[in-house]
Amino acid sequence: MYIKDFFNTKNVVFSFEIFPPKSTSSVNTIYSTLEALGDLKPDYISVTYGAGGSLIDNRTKELSSLVKNKYNIEALAHLTCINSTKAHIENILNDLKECNVENVLALRGDISDQVQNIGEYNYAYELVEHIKDRKGFCIGAACYPEGHIQCENLSKDIDALKYKVDCGADFLISQLFFDNSLFYNFLNKANQRGIAVPVQAGIMPITNKKQIEKIISLCGVELPKKFIKIMNKYENNPEALRDAGIAYAIEQIVDLISTGVRGIHLYTMNNPYVARKITESISTILNCVNSEKSV
Ligand code: FAD
Repeated sequence: MYIKDFFNTKNVVFSFEIFPPKSTSSVNTIYSTLEALGDLKPDYISVTYGAGGSLIDNRTKELSSLVKNKYNIEALAHLTCINSTKAHIENILNDLKECNVENVLALRGDISDQVQNIGEYNYAYELVEHIKDRKGFCIGAACYPEGHIQCENLSKDIDALKYKVDCGADFLISQLFFDNSLFYNFLNKANQRGIAVPVQAGIMPITNKKQIEKIISLCGVELPKKFIKIMNKYENNPEALRDAGIAYAIEQIVDLISTGVRGIHLYTMNNPYVARKITESISTILNCVNSEKSV
């Protein structure tokens, strides 16, 4: 099933993101994680691609296929195009199609001053165009409520986003954020710019201090005072920090759903405990808003 069709039948689409296990371990290590996540009945599960510098793109295909064919949950395979050729991308798309995976998150991937692009793509919109022309996939793309870290300002980033959507993106998933007001500001601006596809809010429950440092260096998102206060208070007590991170994410999600946001994408970090705690806390709310659509 195409993910865009979920948005036609539900007010709020709820999904999880997982990453493939390291190259040194078998893909089987993720079975118990998937089993636990599957029990929570998300609308779909997305699988990252080569994130964190790994080049083991086959793992994304393997894991997406597992999600779809073994656990019967819709799968969204992430795919980055930087440093890639059209022939390579075509091979991956063919492989995904063979595994019955029909949803792709079309991404550029990270580039740095150290890594020069030697591929045939410069931006994600070119990958969106490629997949659209090839036909047979529902296409998701990334968006950045506070602007992409390499973009001069939010307004220019939204102009680029509008172009990417016009090239054929069916829905968007946002980068994580900790201040809902920044997400609402982004949605208003995107709307004014004529971006009409559904946008899922990306939520990452913070469960340890190392995670926060990594996020700031990679994404440059703002940390609200309230968030910093909580993290500082419990930084030396891992369990308290985990519970505070979960509670913070739940509060964000309840506010987002109550404000009418079309979807929540939970960065699970392959942690079923955290995903379960959050899902259980919001399931009645989700059922409530989604039942409004079916009457
Ligand atoms: P683009 O949309 O191409 O944007 C990149 C930059 O170029 C932005 O600054 C934008 O403003 C600018 N730009 C875009 N189009 C134009 C244009 N036409 N003219 C001028 N400037 C333009 N990375 C991974 O490696 N693997 C993953 O699995 C992964 N999953 C992700 C999932 C989500 C939901 C998100 C939000 C990000 C994910 N990323 C992943 C990170 C992503 O690859 C990086 O953020 C990357 O730097 C940008 O990718 P993009 O697809 O947004 O690029």
